[in-house]
Amino acid sequence: MQIRYATDLSAEQYVRQQAWQAATLNQCPLHPQGGCGFCKNGSYSRKFPDGAKVARWYCADGHMSFSLLPDCLASHLSGSLIEVEDVLTEVEHSHSQEAAADNIRIDILLPGALRWIRRRIFLVKASLNMLIELLPGLFADCHPSILSFQSALDADYVLPELRHVASSYLPVLPPPLGFGPRPETKKSKKNHFQHKTGTDPPSIRC
Ligand SMILES: [Zn+2]
Repeated sequence: MQIRYATDLSAEQYVRQQAWQAATLNQCPLHPQGGCGFCKNGSYSRKFPDGAKVARWYCADGHMSFSLLPDCLASHLSGSLIEVEDVLTEVEHSHSQEAAADNIRIDILLPGALRWIRRRIFLVKASLNMLIELLPGLFADCHPSILSFQSALDADYVLPELRHVASSYLPVLPPPLGFGPRPETKKSKKNHFQHKTGTDPPSIRC
């Protein structure tokens, strides 16, 4: 289970300062009363950004690990939230997804680049649509677009900001913003037996 690590650090600062070492989780989220064998369980490495680690705890009774994901890093996607947001902003400023793909992913062929971009658009827009419903006082007039949310929050980057603004809803919002389940696509509804693509299953070592 992922837990929010509230921090203003950028991904670069997080890595440079090795800020996962300062992350703390004082009590078990499942058993605040204690006595469940809750303990620090080291950290796991993320592929991107290079050198980043995420602090982890483990509840022995609940057989569950808890990762403290900093506000700068994407959940269940590599890299930072700002990198994800840059992709959507580029698409929203482009006349087509194909044109945006030519600027964003020149390292792979267009069909792969479009799949990569569309996965990010699909996931982020699912979160933005939910937030319009969940926080009408803030976002009732918004469209599910980065530009609209940037305007509503008067922020250069909204995804890291939304970790703070919508902190109580992170368990239900889909990744890469939230820590909830991925929304079902038409394809995944057809195939309920497909494997989940999680990241970094924990090795238990208390
Ligand atoms: Zn526990």
